[in-house]
Amino acid sequence: METIDRAMYLQKDEELQEEWAKHLKPYGVKLPKKNSQSRIALLVLFVNINKAMDIDEIKKIVEYLIGTTLEGGDPCQVRHFSTQRGFNIIKEGKKFKLVSMEDPFPGFIKDKRSTKLTDELWEKLKEEYDNMCLNCGSKHGEPMRWDKTKNTVLQQGHMDPRKPLAYDNCIPQCSFCNQQYKSKAIFNKRGFVIDYCKTGFYRNERIMDSVGEGAAVLAAMRATADNIPLGAAGTWQAV
Ligand SMILES: [Zn+2]
Repeated sequence: METIDRAMYLQKDEELQEEWAKHLKPYGVKLPKKNSQSRIALLVLFVNINKAMDIDEIKKIVEYLIGTTLEGGDPCQVRHFSTQRGFNIIKEGKKFKLVSMEDPFPGFIKDKRSTKLTDELWEKLKEEYDNMCLNCGSKHGEPMRWDKTKNTVLQQGHMDPRKPLAYDNCIPQCSFCNQQYKSKAIFNKRGFVIDYCKTGFYRNERIMDSVGEGAAVLAAMRATADNIPLGAAGTWQAV
């Protein structure tokens, strides 16, 4: 560890910030705060660009640079750098490799809530749900259940707000229910809440992503809730 050059790291941090501002900031990639553990871990990957770094090795260098020992296997949240922050980092077992500072992580979407289904898919999905709000049962074009002064206009809600809107992640919701849940709930396809975070899932940095070990827990949880067959159209009721 004596070989770690602090001055070099400090200098490289400026370069990291410049590269990020030039290439990645426009995509909405989030740079960890200067001097934070995460920033230093990212810096370690940047200094070793295109080299697969073991998570324990990254941790050791960060500990050396900040002069403190850290708890846990991934105290700097390196596993969230790609899918959540948008850095082009690939993971192989316990190793992480920063591939490029010129392009974001493939498939990274700045605002996961901004995408929409095509008209065709949206019509198909609404039909699948009998043109009703998944949560309260308000029917499209008819008075809303909880505000009868307004007619229901179904909106494209997220089944899992941490993931992009896609056919298998979309649910029809009336504006009342969509507003009520925002990004706080993860639903199954019947509209049952299978996980809840009152501050909202999208903004919660600690939420497990598709790379982290938490994904397995979430997948198991979803499988349990989702394995109840939806049944023939019209035989089930929205709740
Ligand atoms: Zn509703």
